[in-house]
Amino acid sequence: MNFSFSDEQELLRKNTARFLEKNLKPYVRDIDAKGEIPVEFFRNAGENGIISPLIKQKYGGPSLSFMDSVIISEEIARVDTSMATSVYYLLNTSWAYVLQKYGKQELKDKLLPEIASGSQFIGIASTEPSGGSDVANITTSGTVKNGKIIINGEKMYISGALEAKNNGGGHLTLVKTDQEKGHKGITMVYVPASAKGIEITKLENMGRMGISTAGIKYNNVEVPEENIIGEINEGFYYSMDGFNHARIMVAAACNGLSEKMLEEGLGYIKERKAFGKSLSDFQAISFEAADLKTEIEMASLLNYKAAYLADVDNPEFYIYSSMSKLKSPQIAMDTVKKVMMWFGAYGYTKDSGIEMSARGIFSYLVGAEGALNIMKMIIAKAILK
Ligand SMILES: Cc1cc2nc3c(=O)[nH]c(=O)nc-3n(C[C@H](O)[C@H](O)[C@H](O)COP(=O)(O)OP(=O)(O)OC[C@H]3O[C@@H](n4cnc5c(N)ncnc54)[C@H](O)[C@@H]3O)c2cc1C
Repeated sequence: MNFSFSDEQELLRKNTARFLEKNLKPYVRDIDAKGEIPVEFFRNAGENGIISPLIKQKYGGPSLSFMDSVIISEEIARVDTSMATSVYYLLNTSWAYVLQKYGKQELKDKLLPEIASGSQFIGIASTEPSGGSDVANITTSGTVKNGKIIINGEKMYISGALEAKNNGGGHLTLVKTDQEKGHKGITMVYVPASAKGIEITKLENMGRMGISTAGIKYNNVEVPEENIIGEINEGFYYSMDGFNHARIMVAAACNGLSEKMLEEGLGYIKERKAFGKSLSDFQAISFEAADLKTEIEMASLLNYKAAYLADVDNPEFYIYSSMSKLKSPQIAMDTVKKVMMWFGAYGYTKDSGIEMSARGIFSYLVGAEGALNIMKMIIAKAILK
């Protein structure tokens, strides 16, 4: 067992941090206030190989590993502590992975170089107004006819819908090709956001303002059959593969944010004086810091194990990615809350930036990339079988 990163990985972390310091940090507060990540950031990140790092070199990507992708995810969250850029990154990384693994050659040749360069976004459209956890019961229909698939229905809370429409891109969309067969009747289709018959309605979220969440209506949307990912009626399995990998990236983002918050908090409690001492001299506070440090370390180690198992193709990796997705957002929320309290009244102001992180992290407690109870269901089923 080896607990160190390789020299290449240490360099990747250093270079990513340096790139983000220059190209992302100055814009973070604007991203939250204006609700938009600058398009140039995606292009620059693409040029630096950190916008969708799992894409293979033959498609113009850097061909990095899941562990490398975790390193990048942690670093992005340390800089854009609103979580918006982390969400863009993790979707682009995980769903490009699914396209690369299961997509048809023609579609991969067309899309993957664009995604790797930061010119196109790729996300997932699974959730419907009737619910997100019970994927098998989606009703959006897909009818295969004359070399096309015709889509009708509605998706909800879809991240990146406006970015895909305005800057280029689309979503791997789950449709029912056999309404009678539950999860065995689901097909995955790549639907560009610019397709005729798509209607996008932006939802006003409480956090991670730099990436949109929207409802998407599909009114007789036609896409070529080549856009069907893999086999008809196998889409549920591809989506689970994608979600299981995406959860590693979510947890990495939460861990990166937790580390950054704790660092800022430690700096503050050492400086801030009350009753003639530093706040850090009060055990009530230093013990909280000790607990947080321990929990963040545990969360990171669990997530590195999940990434390692994904890299070596261990079929049990999904249990670890679910455990990671269960714990990391809760630890991040706890960290943000405690650090905000150490900061006192200043922590409650927008100036401190802490509330921005609280708003962002909450999306992962609520459900993005799978609700917490669903993680527990996956873990329980695996350990009880
Ligand atoms: C900011 C944000 C961005 C999102 N982006 C996307 C996206 O890009 N693409 C996409 O497809 N979806 C997206 N989602 C939707 C997300 O996947 C869903 O929120 C999630 O799957 C949960 O679905 P739901 O919100 O409909 O809640 P429901 O499925 O209605 O569940 C509600 C609550 O009940 C609990 N629950 C459900 N079933 C059980 C059970 N059997 N036992 C115990 N408890 C249960 C859940 O844990 C949850 O707390 C996003 C969500 C958010 C908040």
